[in-house]
Amino acid sequence: MVTERWLTATEDVVRVARAHAREVDTEARFPAEAMDAMRRTGLLGLLVPVEHGGLGGGLEDMVEIAGRLAGGCLSTALIWSMHCQQVDAVVRHSGPELRDELLPRIAEDGHHLASVTTEAAKGGHLLRAQSPLRPEAGTLRIERDAPVVTGGMIADGFLITMRADEDAAAHEVSLVYAERAQLKIDEGRSWRSLGMRGTSSAGIRISGSVPQQNFIGRPGDFRAVAMDSMIPLAHLGWAACWLGGARGLFREMLGAVRSRAWPLDVGSELVRERLARARMDLELVSSHLQRVCDEVALIRASGGRLDRPATQIHLNLLKVSAAELTFRAADRLMQLAGLTRGYLEDSPFPAERVFRDLRSASLNNSDDRLLVVTGALVPLDKDVCLS
Ligand SMILES: Cc1cc2nc3c(=O)[nH]c(=O)nc-3n(C[C@H](O)[C@H](O)[C@H](O)COP(=O)(O)OP(=O)(O)OC[C@H]3O[C@@H](n4cnc5c(N)ncnc54)[C@H](O)[C@@H]3O)c2cc1C
Repeated sequence: MVTERWLTATEDVVRVARAHAREVDTEARFPAEAMDAMRRTGLLGLLVPVEHGGLGGGLEDMVEIAGRLAGGCLSTALIWSMHCQQVDAVVRHSGPELRDELLPRIAEDGHHLASVTTEAAKGGHLLRAQSPLRPEAGTLRIERDAPVVTGGMIADGFLITMRADEDAAAHEVSLVYAERAQLKIDEGRSWRSLGMRGTSSAGIRISGSVPQQNFIGRPGDFRAVAMDSMIPLAHLGWAACWLGGARGLFREMLGAVRSRAWPLDVGSELVRERLARARMDLELVSSHLQRVCDEVALIRASGGRLDRPATQIHLNLLKVSAAELTFRAADRLMQLAGLTRGYLEDSPFPAERVFRDLRSASLNNSDDRLLVVTGALVPLDKDVCLS
């Protein structure tokens, strides 16, 4: 259960994030102020176990906090939730040396982790890699393009997918950890995006060498880490962020209606129908998110595996439905707010920003890819075990 102390810390960060959200979006710059607040409050160590100096939080806490952060600034929330994905992989799949060395720095210094999975040649296919890891004088050599890395020019460390070695097939993928100081990082394509502009997800080119102990999971078996940690954390975290962004917008709009700053005719049946439909979209995502989060937490608590078809289907469809429904809700809210209160950049509510941000949801790990994978799993779950 999320504690009062963590909620206070979250509110602290939300205040800072909200104050800078517009500027971060307009300038397409990293939300440095909110990141400083996360370091100050210890939130970057939420998933680090207590014995390593962290807060020892769980999945439910991550989901709750991601949603609240997103109500202030969706880019900030996404950066944080992607950091949490990386932390979870380190906690559950790294060797003791790396764990003991890295986790206290995340908890105490707010060492920020970013994710490198996308590659120009293979696009968003998570479980494939093109560039090979090369052994070099007892270390592992990394040379890799990374066309989209959230916070790539700022993060302190990276979890990077690589083809296991030069002779390995594209599906034999290793996950390795690299410190910024171990890498030469060149700036690649800039992040001139429609939305999520504050995530600073520009391209980078990475080269460097890391110690052998920096494998996360077994060499060549990234799939196991992805199934157990990266995919569940990504889909739960993103769904929480998108829901939190849409909910935050809805709240701001209702606040203005209640304070009469916005003289919306709530007696109108058309307005009521629109309010109900937007609320319905959020209710559906909220309950789906809660169910899948509970399912994953329960399986983990019992030491079970998350790669059975029904659980993978639940996780994938959570991601796709959250992407579709939160964007639909933002679209409905835009229609309700109209041109001057909704569509314009300087309107009183961040409807236009949230709408642009949420348009990325179905592209961030393409829904098309996920639906194709999920459709192949569906016949394997003969009992149709719903979430
Ligand atoms: C806000 C944001 C932050 C991100 N942060 C990171 C990050 O930190 N690190 C990172 O590595 N990546 C990051 N990404 C990239 C993300 O993980 C995906 O790799 C990326 O969104 C996929 O981009 P794509 O559509 O070009 O590629 P692809 O997924 O390769 O898709 C290319 C095209 O092929 C289509 N397609 C896919 N499958 C099929 C199919 N079976 N049949 C027909 N067409 C198909 C898709 O619809 C799409 O049009 C981020 C993306 C966003 C939006």
